[in-house]
Amino acid sequence: MVRITPPSERTCERCGREDVWSTDAQSWVIGGAEGDPYCLHEWDINGTFNPVADAE
Ligand SMILES: [Zn+2]
Repeated sequence: MVRITPPSERTCERCGREDVWSTDAQSWVIGGAEGDPYCLHEWDINGTFNPVADAE
């Protein structure tokens, strides 16, 4: 059985902004006070996130 485990939070590697996933809104919401509103955010989940839990 393959179980999808989407990320529930992400952090920008450029400005340090943290977002959290809102299941109610089905979108990212700002989770922290830090961050540059003009930053082209480079989220740390890109490229490293594996959406499929260990299925063997
Ligand atoms: Zn950023």
